[in-house]
Amino acid sequence: MSKKLIAGNWKMNGSLAANEALVQAMLAGIGQPSAEVALCAPAPYLAQLQALLQGSPIAWGSQDVSSHEQGAYTGEISVAMLKDFGCRYAIVGHSERRQYHGETDEVVATKAQRALSAGITPIVCVGETLAEREANETESVVKRQLAAVIHAVGHCITEIVVAYEPVWAIGTGKTATPEMAQAVHAVLRAQLAAATTNPKRVHILYGGSMNAANAASLLAQPDIDGGLIGGASLKAADFLQIVAAA
Ligand code: PGA
Repeated sequence: MSKKLIAGNWKMNGSLAANEALVQAMLAGIGQPSAEVALCAPAPYLAQLQALLQGSPIAWGSQDVSSHEQGAYTGEISVAMLKDFGCRYAIVGHSERRQYHGETDEVVATKAQRALSAGITPIVCVGETLAEREANETESVVKRQLAAVIHAVGHCITEIVVAYEPVWAIGTGKTATPEMAQAVHAVLRAQLAAATTNPKRVHILYGGSMNAANAASLLAQPDIDGGLIGGASLKAADFLQIVAAA
């Protein structure tokens, strides 16, 4: 496996002033990270990130992208537009989008395919709800979610990033134990192995209350190739500690 990937997901937080302070603090402390690092900002701030991060060790990405190419889709943002702003990554299928915006596995897969077609790496989120975990459906849920993407992108599957984010762990302070996370990551790796000869090439990130205190033990697991960081990416010191743990 190549370097680990630590990606921040700011969600719907920030302002021009707050982002500037946060990014400057990160840049001041990041040095030469041994991990790949990225920040995913709300769309209005992509130009700001482009300006602040150009030439730095931190890449930037969006939190979503349209499944459509262009045209009469009010409010949507196309992969070509993201590419224009130098985006390297686009999160697709975050559970908040699946849950609050009705995104189906097929829509998420189409978004992943669109991103790839523009040379943007989709960070495809999968994960079970608490009810699904309690019903012993974790494996079938994440496999169904990933299968839709494998079906859509075919051999390009090695170009995606997968993020396993148990919905019950997101923003709750309840992290999956390293063993619980590793078990699901191993399932996802096996599924990738059935679709490509190079399953290790795909980064499988863990997300869900990853923080400065628990990052090292999660990142030590054999199939945890990085993290997708929500709350802790809004604090420079916490985020930098996670980067250092990778
Ligand atoms: P959290 O969010 O780190 O705040 O739990 C992770 C995510 O939703 O990507």
